[in-house]
Amino acid sequence: MSTAQTTTACIRVAVTSAPADLFDYLPPVPGGPVVPCAGMRVLVPFGRGRRVGMITSVAATSALPPDRLKRIDALLDRTPLLTDGDLRFVLWAARYYQCSPAEALFSAIPARLRRPEPVLDPAAPGWRATAAGATLAMADLQRAPRQRDALGLLRSQPAGLEDGMLRQRLGDCSAALRALASKGLVARCRIAADAGNGPSASAPNAEHPPPKSAQASDQAPNQDTGPELNTEQQQAVDIIAQQSGFGCFLLDGVTGSGKTEVYLRLIEGALAQGRQVLVLVPEIGLTPQLRERFARRIAAPMAVLHSALGERERELAWQQAASGRARLVLGTRSAIFTPMPALGLLIVDEEHDASLKQQDGFRYSARDLAVRRGQLADSPVVLGSATPSLETLFNAREGRYRRLALTRRAGQAADPDIRLVDIRGQYLETGLSHALLTHMDQQIEAGNQVLLFLNRRGFSPVLTCHDCGWVSECNHCDARMTLHRGRDQLLCHHCGLTQPRPLRCPCCESPDLRPLGQGTERVEDTLRKRFAGVPLARIDRDSTRRKGELERLLAAAQRGDYRILLGTQMLAKGHHLPAITLVGIMDIDFGLYGTDFRAAERMAQLLIQVAGRAGRADRPGTVLVQTRHPQHPMLERLLRQGYGSFAEAALAERAAAALPPFSHQALLRADSPKAQAALEFLRQVLVTARPLAPPSVEFWGPAPAQMERRAGRVRAQLLLQAPRRSQLQGLLATLLPRLRALPAPRHVRWSIDVDPKDL
Ligand code: ADP
Ligand code: ZN
Ligand code: ZN
Repeated sequence: MSTAQTTTACIRVAVTSAPADLFDYLPPVPGGPVVPCAGMRVLVPFGRGRRVGMITSVAATSALPPDRLKRIDALLDRTPLLTDGDLRFVLWAARYYQCSPAEALFSAIPARLRRPEPVLDPAAPGWRATAAGATLAMADLQRAPRQRDALGLLRSQPAGLEDGMLRQRLGDCSAALRALASKGLVARCRIAADAGNGPSASAPNAEHPPPKSAQASDQAPNQDTGPELNTEQQQAVDIIAQQSGFGCFLLDGVTGSGKTEVYLRLIEGALAQGRQVLVLVPEIGLTPQLRERFARRIAAPMAVLHSALGERERELAWQQAASGRARLVLGTRSAIFTPMPALGLLIVDEEHDASLKQQDGFRYSARDLAVRRGQLADSPVVLGSATPSLETLFNAREGRYRRLALTRRAGQAADPDIRLVDIRGQYLETGLSHALLTHMDQQIEAGNQVLLFLNRRGFSPVLTCHDCGWVSECNHCDARMTLHRGRDQLLCHHCGLTQPRPLRCPCCESPDLRPLGQGTERVEDTLRKRFAGVPLARIDRDSTRRKGELERLLAAAQRGDYRILLGTQMLAKGHHLPAITLVGIMDIDFGLYGTDFRAAERMAQLLIQVAGRAGRADRPGTVLVQTRHPQHPMLERLLRQGYGSFAEAALAERAAAALPPFSHQALLRADSPKAQAALEFLRQVLVTARPLAPPSVEFWGPAPAQMERRAGRVRAQLLLQAPRRSQLQGLLATLLPRLRALPAPRHVRWSIDVDPKDL
């Protein structure tokens, strides 16, 4: 890192939007105050313009003669954004997922830094108590508990507290702070990264006892210690805590078995040893519920990273992790790249969840990368789920991961009773059977909560003309447009195209247009009539579009404000809704005969996760699953013998068909506005690839994609499959550079997806 500038001959740079490779440059004009180091961003001449890049290494010589090398225009950072270890990890990921080094590196840093902008000043805006605020008698704020809490907390932190920390401790308290400011009791300030806001910052009461008069604020930053662990939980904690270097654990615990409690104990242990901890969660699970639970329990600065953050907030959180100030990082998939100098434990919650896979650009699995990162950081990795992916179960079976089971629900909660409702030949009211409605009546009458699950938003998936048979097809996709009555529109869920809801048939002008089938909007309609006066909340992407709305609805549901919750998969995950005693799954059949070989696995995971919302506290829960295939062997097995047994059977099927995890896949996708062009291109790819491949590699296709036309582009794909990962990786390493050099026909776009999740 300290290579003196005089001996530096060549600087290797990953250049944004360049083809795959790294490029060599000469150092910037000598004499600058900063020595170029790996991990710094630079501005370089490239082609006719200038690009941002990142230095990946500094070498003594280049393969190119010096007079062919251009000079770096400017260094954009004074210190490296990524350490050598971070670089090694990201570049490994780029190689594995066949993505250019620059694309991977620039996905790993905050979005703002992809542009030639300086890093943000980490001195964060915050609040401090004024002299008047420090001496006020707390009783004066008797009737303003939010203000009292905020002032109490600030009085215990003479240097002030930054906004993020205040939010972490008190929730959204901006109104209270403004009110205090208007009385001159608190003031805005900037808090430097090292201004005594170290690990003690979020446990102010321990280090700086508040003044006597501030006692009323004691309840605000209460650190709670959690329940006593049961034997299985304790065993899991003990075994994982004993692991000193890398080791991967599967925490296989039924819903509500107390996995999060296990994480919390492990986190406390790692933090006490001075290590940092990274926790990855699926996008939708990252509600304030979880964040608050962590904040209540963990007395150390925490950085939260998720997609709803603004660029600035995200970058500051990222800096806190990178500087080592934040000891705990809680984030969604891209947080896997957060630099953490003292990383000592990685936890991936809901490891089976599809949102841990990045589906475009740099296509990576954050779960799989967590295992690799744990290896590089020589730290334990914990993968937790009630419905582990078949890949992970297989790895456990093969002895690569150690499986730790939590077989019972924690506390008093009993397992839910899951039953199938055979709806063949039954009268359905907007998709609801008599049996389901009767159960709903009973539970609502008994004062309990009911959850209905339907994984289809909108009013109806199709609008059709009763006179001529016209259907609401999308002009750009091989798909139907969904009727959304709330917005009075037809909307394509695949390309986003919207149209005003037609009043007459576009073909025959008939006014008799009828919605076919049902989405959540339509079921809501029926329920509001059938259960008039019973408070109901619909929770789907449409009803939660406004920021904070999902949190508001869930908090209200938790308080018991709603008796019926109706929703899509947003409701399936993680949320703790203790009063639910009945879960109705309106339609599970989509998963039984899906075309993708993972359809059954996904169906089983969804069913068990949704069912897991029932009876999480002291009231027992029932789950009713409507189906037209009650004798389907996989469904029967899942319900009679549980997810573990289902997974065994599903793994046996995969083994017989040599499908993942018994083989390894990469998918080449191509699309073009022109019919045939993508297929034609992939045929050419196949001709290039075959001679490079060992005989064990199989090629499937090229073939049209599942939905051939989408967003106006005609799509095709070619699947590569090999018995061993190394064979596939070897082939891709030689094939991809050739494909990049291949003159792709105009308007054909292509991409590679290693370990694809959707075929
Ligand atoms: P999971 O993450 O497996 O869904 P949680 O950790 O959220 O489970 O636990 C479910 C509920 O049970 C939570 O309310 C939690 O506080 C409670 N709980 C967890 N462990 C225990 C325990 N050992 N004793 C009593 N309650 C517990
Ligand atoms: Zn018509
Ligand atoms: Zn469309």
